[in-house]
Amino acid sequence: MVEKAPGPRGGGYVVNFSGVGYEAAGRLGILPDLERAEQPTPELVYVDESGRRVAALPPEAHAALVGGASVTLLRGDLEAALHRALSDRARLRFGTTVTRLDQDDDGVDVGFSDGTDGRFDLVVGADGLHSQVRAAVFGPEERFRADLGHAVISCLLPEPPRAARLDAAQSVGVGLVGRGVGITPTADGRCAAFFAFRTDDVERDLREGPVPTLRRVYGDLGWVVPDLLTAVAKEDSIYFDRICQIRMERWHQGRVVLLGDSAWCVSLFAGSGSSLAVGGAELLGDVLDRHHGDPSGALAAWEAEFRPLVLSRQREALRATAMFVAPNATALWLRTMAFRLSGSRPVRWAGRRFFGNNRRAAASS
Ligand SMILES: Cc1cc2nc3c(=O)[nH]c(=O)nc-3n(C[C@H](O)[C@H](O)[C@H](O)COP(=O)(O)OP(=O)(O)OC[C@H]3O[C@@H](n4cnc5c(N)ncnc54)[C@H](O)[C@@H]3O)c2cc1C
Repeated sequence: MVEKAPGPRGGGYVVNFSGVGYEAAGRLGILPDLERAEQPTPELVYVDESGRRVAALPPEAHAALVGGASVTLLRGDLEAALHRALSDRARLRFGTTVTRLDQDDDGVDVGFSDGTDGRFDLVVGADGLHSQVRAAVFGPEERFRADLGHAVISCLLPEPPRAARLDAAQSVGVGLVGRGVGITPTADGRCAAFFAFRTDDVERDLREGPVPTLRRVYGDLGWVVPDLLTAVAKEDSIYFDRICQIRMERWHQGRVVLLGDSAWCVSLFAGSGSSLAVGGAELLGDVLDRHHGDPSGALAAWEAEFRPLVLSRQREALRATAMFVAPNATALWLRTMAFRLSGSRPVRWAGRRFFGNNRRAAASS
């Protein structure tokens, strides 16, 4: 396994890991490791621009919505658990990328950035949204990318902004039209800051960089937002990207297969990208076992089995966009009402539908 990063990264952003990935983690035996890194399920509190509480989702209601079968943890902790599970059976080569891929009927010749090369039966490109393997084998990213008109900035801060007076068990969302802010304390006293906003020119935003973009988009806000922007500006590691989906008619070509965001990025609006990546990987392993010696049959069977779930999550993500970033005042009001009525049966049903659809059986029904 080659990984571009110089070493394990740790941290990142907070992910809710449920559905197909959670089930796979159980079968792979890594669930206890994930649960050790679990972040407490917080009360989700929605506030207005001045910090006034407008709605809240108690931890029990939050847990009931996702159906109990989930772990909330930092992306880096999920990555670390997967690395630990692999370390006695695969060599992890950090700081290395693929520079050349040439395949024939019997194998793939691969060149690496450290000057080495090798021949492999199968190459799995699990290299994320901006996959280099996809670009090399299938074509440029733009051909498969559907922009959703939003961007995300996320960052782990040493502590929550003091003025927010956050209880360690509270996650705060500031509800605004066209832009959202989230502050989630972590179990070790740090805090994950999250900004998602509508944009009509994401290329300009990315060129400008995260800090100037944050100042332009959020600079007029009060309450804890100015402190938050100052704290983010001091950080070296800030995640900033467009929110988009990758839509491909097939995920394999010969003996090269894409997996996770590189194949099907559902976008963070689906709340299930890491779960699909792990669930898809486990199923791929299974199917390769079942079709031993027939990679082409295995890859076709894997795609046929997994695609319905991915397509349903991509559709669900489009429907969920307004829950993350309200497009107008009516949507903002509806979202606030949904939080206020979170204990009611219709809202619980909608929540279960969203999170429950993240399972394979649900997608084919
Ligand atoms: C702010 C935010 C919140 C999210 N919340 C959730 C959530 O609550 N629940 C959920 O399930 N999902 C969530 N997601 C989505 C989830 O993080 C992704 O879908 C998931 O990480 C995809 O996993 P992946 O392994 O396919 O890609 P990635 O996680 O992007 O991993 C790709 C890896 O490949 C490496 N790499 C890249 N290029 C190369 C190269 N050329 N050579 C070698 N290595 C390379 C990268 O360094 C990286 O380690 C969220 C995403 C964001 C941005």
